[in-house]
Amino acid sequence: MEGGKKTIVVALGGNAILQPGQKGTFDEQMVNVHVTCEQLAHMVESGKYRVVVTHGNGPQVGNLLLQNEAGKEVAAPMPLFVCGAESQGLIGLMIQQNLGNLLAEQGKGDIPVATVVTQVVVDKSDPAFANPAKPVGPFYSEEEAKALETEKGYNVREDAGRGWRRVVPSPDPIEINEKAAIRQLVEAKAIVIASGGGGIPVIRENGKLVGVDAVIDKDLAGERLAVDVGASIFMVLTDVDSVRLNYNTPEEKVISTMTVDEAKGYAEEGHFAKGSMDPKVKAAVRFVEAGGEKAIITSLDQAVAALEGRAGTTITKS
Ligand code: ADP
Ligand code: MG
Repeated sequence: MEGGKKTIVVALGGNAILQPGQKGTFDEQMVNVHVTCEQLAHMVESGKYRVVVTHGNGPQVGNLLLQNEAGKEVAAPMPLFVCGAESQGLIGLMIQQNLGNLLAEQGKGDIPVATVVTQVVVDKSDPAFANPAKPVGPFYSEEEAKALETEKGYNVREDAGRGWRRVVPSPDPIEINEKAAIRQLVEAKAIVIASGGGGIPVIRENGKLVGVDAVIDKDLAGERLAVDVGASIFMVLTDVDSVRLNYNTPEEKVISTMTVDEAKGYAEEGHFAKGSMDPKVKAAVRFVEAGGEKAIITSLDQAVAALEGRAGTTITKS
């Protein structure tokens, strides 16, 4: 591999693209993505890393589902997994354009930046399919929800007093289908954006790939991607600068480093909330157990410091 550079997979959290309370206009998202790309550009600039980027898509796919719903009489609504593909294109464009412009400003315009529409294979016998639990898309009245259940076979559920919503399975990612293409781009020195939103979930049926309406956790899919591109470092950037014990209590304590065994122990003791920090720690543990050098969980503004061991939470084997 090129000049001893390490490959790093960076998983961007929702905040890197859309801040809470924002409407989600293109201009708002571009401003956030610009700030994010400044940090990515610092990593590239250091000359030490080949950078692969993945990202969440919750608010973007939520908006696409709302648009589908509102416009269903005039334009054919797309399945959820197609909305996932659309969001990969949208977010990929914002990163490609911002990062490309920043690199060009630094005289590094020759570095290609490319997004790969990424399918992620899941197992159709994954237990998640028997227990759809991840709420997606618009809120409905009970009556509307029950109608969708009959007409479209949706699974619907009342969501914490806020109304009814569709729930979909969240299966474990097994394989990044486009891994060979992604690897070739990385070897050709491109900065690759892949597996956005946890990837487009597909199952194998009679040797063919078929899209399924499900949502894959983006941190767990990011870990698969990191293993598949032979990354040394898997970095999860979120809205907290480090993982904490006893989070949000008077006994809260920053974890600067933890071993895989310590991480598993803390997870078992319930320190990491399901659906937010728990999948990040699980992904970090899987990456190191699969032979990765280290995983880092931190915030965007601490990313460069965390790579030098001066911030964030680092997870290693021992
Ligand atoms: P992302 O969009 O980056 O995936 P999430 O909201 O899914 O963000 O996960 C990050 C959140 O995890 C933090 O904002 C924090 O509130 C929450 N969290 C839960 N448990 C912990 C913990 N033990 N230490 C730090 N943050 C935690
Ligand atoms: Mg999350």
